[in-house]
Amino acid sequence: METLLLQNTPQDIARAGKILRGGGLVAIPTETVYGLAANALDGAAVAKIFIAKGRPQDNPLIVHISHLSQWERLVDHIPENAMALAREFWPGPLTIILPKSDLIPDEVSAGLATVAVRFPSMRTTRRIIDAAGVPLAAPSANLSGSPSPTCARHTMDDMRGRIEAVLDGGECNFGVESTVVTLATPVPRLLRPGAVTPEELREVLGELTIDDAVLGKLKEGVKAASPGMKYKHYSPKAEITIVKGKLEQFLRFIAAEKEHAPDVKAFALCFDGEETAVPLPCVTYGRQDDPLTQSHRLFTALRELDEHGAAIVYARCPSTEGVGMAVYNRLLRAAGFHVVLAE
Ligand code: AMP
Ligand code: MG
Repeated sequence: METLLLQNTPQDIARAGKILRGGGLVAIPTETVYGLAANALDGAAVAKIFIAKGRPQDNPLIVHISHLSQWERLVDHIPENAMALAREFWPGPLTIILPKSDLIPDEVSAGLATVAVRFPSMRTTRRIIDAAGVPLAAPSANLSGSPSPTCARHTMDDMRGRIEAVLDGGECNFGVESTVVTLATPVPRLLRPGAVTPEELREVLGELTIDDAVLGKLKEGVKAASPGMKYKHYSPKAEITIVKGKLEQFLRFIAAEKEHAPDVKAFALCFDGEETAVPLPCVTYGRQDDPLTQSHRLFTALRELDEHGAAIVYARCPSTEGVGMAVYNRLLRAAGFHVVLAE
């Protein structure tokens, strides 16, 4: 199939809406990452998403709405704490999980009794949902296992020939996927960190637990609360090692590694401005003191490392404070949980 590249114009948004209404797939921009969208109420359309991405069947999708009033029909009921979250953070990069209604096909919830819903803030996204006239199920628009795409070119690189169209809405603002919180547990639980931070959620919810899979690796035999958390994710072809420590310690660590293996194509994934100090080819991912610049850059930086043919990557470790938790969570998965402490 030939994949159309649509532009951010009223005509092309109408065209995207028509494809979606007809049961086709369109990759769409959002403020988090590009999403691979289908009509969320059409199980057969949603099933095509899993094929196009090579996504495991047991990994549920997020349903995107363009008006708060669409939420009610998708869930069993909306409790007061869910409404409070919506008032504070919607439209925006927060996904809320609640028990689902009968309208949600099994393909969307992957057989779970719950559904994840998000009301995105990007105007183009909402216009596309409006044009489709239905809520849109959309996971990230990457091939399963690759870094999520944050621009139309990366989306096209992964989806060309697999879907009807990609709509180019420019670069995604946040660059990492939404915060996912479930209210279907006795105490609200953070399943995936994003641009809405645990501190912000606690201010509204009071209590919030953080799922073990957020900052660590799921132990053998433990069932994942969020199925997406158990898969190897965001992986470039290079082998990444996260090096904890100050810049000086990082520099000593890579000097020692280079002595061991002088011939491997090694790169550094470092913060802006560190390139001159680092004796390796560098790809940067934002400012050390600004996690929003890191989230904006991270997935693009991972794809750049592949484009350069990096075999081994030493990565500077981000702070886990605030939005940093989301950056660290994604980098940790890209590194296959390989973290070392530089002395
Ligand atoms: P993606 O946006 O591609 O990363 O995929 C959606 C993420 O939300 C995955 O990590 C899913 O496991 C998670 N998710 C979606 N629906 C649910 C649900 N009902 N319960 C738990 N996690 C969910
Ligand atoms: Mg994804």
